[in-house]
Amino acid sequence: MEYRLDLPASQERVAERLKAALESNSFPQAVLITGSAGVGKRALAMQLARILSCTGEKARPCGECPYCRAVRPEKGESPWLWVVPLEGSSDKLEKEEDRREQAKKTLVPIMSDPWDVGAFPETGTIRVESIRDVLRELGRRDPHPRVVLIPEADRMAAAPANALLKTLEEVPENCHFVLTTAHRADMLPTILSRCAKIHLPEATVGEVGAFLEKRGISTENLDQLWALAGGSPGKAVFMAGETVAEARALAMDLLEWTAKESSLELFSWWAESAGRKKSAGASVLRETARHAASALSSLLDDLMRLNAGLPVRNSAFESRLRALPFAGEGDDVLVWMHKELLKTARHMDNSVDPEKVFLALVLKWRNERPRIDLSLVSEKGGA
Ligand SMILES: [Zn+2]
Repeated sequence: MEYRLDLPASQERVAERLKAALESNSFPQAVLITGSAGVGKRALAMQLARILSCTGEKARPCGECPYCRAVRPEKGESPWLWVVPLEGSSDKLEKEEDRREQAKKTLVPIMSDPWDVGAFPETGTIRVESIRDVLRELGRRDPHPRVVLIPEADRMAAAPANALLKTLEEVPENCHFVLTTAHRADMLPTILSRCAKIHLPEATVGEVGAFLEKRGISTENLDQLWALAGGSPGKAVFMAGETVAEARALAMDLLEWTAKESSLELFSWWAESAGRKKSAGASVLRETARHAASALSSLLDDLMRLNAGLPVRNSAFESRLRALPFAGEGDDVLVWMHKELLKTARHMDNSVDPEKVFLALVLKWRNERPRIDLSLVSEKGGA
């Protein structure tokens, strides 16, 4: 049997492991695919879903069996694949028909472009009813290959997770659960322990370049883009626009303002941005803000790399990074800053005023960071 898994060379070891499990007929019935946003988790999930549901005898997916042919990406239709939808802040998924509609809407972008990092709301959550819908379906249908896809599985609070637990322990015959998350640390341990884990490493510069070229996107400044996207092809596509350079510059400014005595520049930037908003429109600014959040994350990463004596990725900013007073202050502070940044990024979509969210972040970084420093110093015995 030939299993048609198409993964980049940097993910070759993952492909080998998966093929070995498929060949020995021991593919786990619940898997969790982890890795950063846009690194290819949903793309792999879709490939696995196709392989696991195919009944071809020589190769899977074969493209010819009834299950392969039942897939209709443009309509979000695929009778053997269920997806658990997210409920965004403006959605109301109280009725089953609404959830069904939302599941279809979720499947269309996953099937047409699983690499699209902007496909899901940053703040959506998984309703317990959505989990129950899927479990009911699984109990109802005749036994044939079926796959349940749960993207952004970290958005499950205790209630939906508990509803899922029992089934994950004993997944019905011929069924497979494929969960994906970019935030493994936010997953409930009970769910984690019941899934086989597959981690997708970041792609190389060359792979991201090839990925962009395939989509007709310019690979000018590829090194920068790769660094900014953290080796994620999906993010690189998302960031390839013109706003990137502006967002990167803003991110570096924000880091420097964090370290300054006076908030004057920060507030004048904020006042200016209010004027820009009137002319540029809120959606453009939101895009810049999202890019700036990614850029900040990449710069914080570089500060950690400096601590570890590794070469930085945003080499254009190296001297400015080294000049930051909190460069070399220890990873704990940087980890804390990163956590606060993640919280901020999650608020971004809901906020009508993304700059205000950044302003709050920088002020928090500035005002609360020193206290952490002091405790670190005392723990180290005044070192
Ligand atoms: Zn097939």
